[in-house]
Amino acid sequence: MDTQLARGAEMIGAARKILVFTGAGLSTESGIPDFRSPGGIWEKYDPSDFYFQKLISDETAREKYWQMSTEFYGTIRDALPNQAHLAIKTLEDRGRLLAVVTQNIDNLHHKAGNSPDRIIELHGTVISVSCLSCRKKYERDEIQARLRGGVKVPYCDDCGGILKPDTISFGQAMPQEEMERAMRYAAQCDLCMVLGSSLVVYPAASVPIQAVQNGARLMIINRDPTPQDPDADLVLRMSVSKALDGMLGILFA
Ligand code: ZN
Repeated sequence: MDTQLARGAEMIGAARKILVFTGAGLSTESGIPDFRSPGGIWEKYDPSDFYFQKLISDETAREKYWQMSTEFYGTIRDALPNQAHLAIKTLEDRGRLLAVVTQNIDNLHHKAGNSPDRIIELHGTVISVSCLSCRKKYERDEIQARLRGGVKVPYCDDCGGILKPDTISFGQAMPQEEMERAMRYAAQCDLCMVLGSSLVVYPAASVPIQAVQNGARLMIINRDPTPQDPDADLVLRMSVSKALDGMLGILFA
């Protein structure tokens, strides 16, 4: 394992434009369960209740959505960035980070202190809410206060439209601008580091493919195998924070 960490440190040391790609495995150490894991939220709720088309057409589905989402939001709101998030911040401080592209909706890269203009949230964020009709934006905490006050399904103050957290639901289109930015950075980077993602959710998982096709080296740190392991220059099946601690320790000691 030490040899592999040394190899990872060498790869980071040689890179000048690192694209970090993160998934749920990065945030489990911050106490945020993976949606899709045993014990995750989809064992308690049925994902088919939360398809985008159902949310916009069915008031009962919206009420259930806000119950589920409120439960999940409490965990996220109180979560703190872990050593892995802080290591990614260190990469930015050292001038190595091109961008961090995340599948996570938990705001932890912002909390870790990475520049907002370097963070691309492909699946949105829990910290704001938008009106689906007029696009008016609300702070999530303001909407949560309404729910605590007894409102079951909140609506837009301005137009009465449906409100929804700014996360991408099943059946909802990916944010096009974010996806395009991610692919642009993937084409520019010299190293792509996949951290805590199993690379099974598309189109997000096409970001590292784009990086490799454009000549970048690929490092994958994830507990489980991923479909892109054969294309990687280095694969580490271990805790992301331990791996990054080890590598940055060697590199910046
Ligand atoms: Zn509105």
